[in-house]
Amino acid sequence: NRQILLASRPFGAPDPDNFKLAVTDKPTAKQGEVLLRTVYLSLDPYMRGRMNDAKSYAEPVGLGEVMVGGAVCRVESSLNDDYKTGDWVVAFSGWQDYCISDGKDLLKLSDNLPYPSKALGILGMPGLTAYMGLLDIGQPKTGETVVVAAATGAVGSLVGQIAKIKGCNVIGIAGGAEKCEYAVNTLGFDHCLDHYADDFAEQLSAVATAGIDVYFENVGGKVFDAILPLLNSCARIPLCGLISQYNATELPEGPDRMAMLMGSLLVKRIKMQGFIVFDDYGHRYAEFSQQMSKWLMAGEIKDKEHLVTGLENAVDAFIGLLAGKNFGKVIVRVGPD
Ligand code: NDP
Repeated sequence: NRQILLASRPFGAPDPDNFKLAVTDKPTAKQGEVLLRTVYLSLDPYMRGRMNDAKSYAEPVGLGEVMVGGAVCRVESSLNDDYKTGDWVVAFSGWQDYCISDGKDLLKLSDNLPYPSKALGILGMPGLTAYMGLLDIGQPKTGETVVVAAATGAVGSLVGQIAKIKGCNVIGIAGGAEKCEYAVNTLGFDHCLDHYADDFAEQLSAVATAGIDVYFENVGGKVFDAILPLLNSCARIPLCGLISQYNATELPEGPDRMAMLMGSLLVKRIKMQGFIVFDDYGHRYAEFSQQMSKWLMAGEIKDKEHLVTGLENAVDAFIGLLAGKNFGKVIVRVGPD
């Protein structure tokens, strides 16, 4: 049983030395438990926060503990009446080949899913995040302008496509020409801008001619600086993530923008609301799942997976995710079906 442990806490961007590969005996299930074999492991930006020894909405991973994470697993053996060998489940089982569960926190998937890994992306946590953040907090209306960054990623790609279904003008922001081209030509966004361009802020104001009504915040930093002056009165900001800051070790350079931010929120009556997806919207999973499956099956929404093969490659893939090297939802293929 291979496990990837947190070996030390990163200062800034994580590096491979912060992780350690350990090999233990394969665990065995006791009465009431199941033995799970990880098939697909999800890598997500929130894992960076769990590497810090800081209080947040969830406990940090302890030094020497297995890195946390959601996974799609097969039940390899079962002493629990609710599960049988071969069942597909979603488990919060972490970066490892095998784990034991008492079955309480598992989500059973149907037997004949064509692509079980989608339960970690479009039909799972990132999908729920995009759907609820945009529709419940963003409240987009036909004809409004919606902007989303990390636009080809797990969450952003879905936000933009749902906004198109709702009849909005959608502007994506992504890193590099290839991602931008994909957002427009494959995902159907109206525009997509490269945040690495020197004149990114000017380009944004040139395409957001009617201002911005909904900004789905995934990244923060200089992208938000460019967004703020373009927000319309009564704009909504679902505050989902701030990935540009996750590896930051100090406050950004330049003048303090807090007064400007608060002044804009006040004068323009902007609503900015953070959310933690399962805490706030876990109870609406069924509603989301039904709608998103329908869109997916009808070809109205597309998803893209960035598939990495082998648990041993999870560390590099995770470091790359924080640096924008992924193109789509990052999934690690850990074991065979
Ligand atoms: P993605 O698949 O979008 O991957 C992360 C992407 O972030 C990178 O590919 C990169 O895209 C972009 N990025 C990284 N650094 C920067 C930077 N400095 N400036 C601008 N963009 C950057 O990840 P997810 O879709 O899984 O997550 C997106 C956001 O949503 C994250 O902030 C995450 O923490 C948050 N989230 C929040 C949840 C909640 O409950 N609140 C739940 C799930 C996710 P590019 O190359 O295009 O710049």
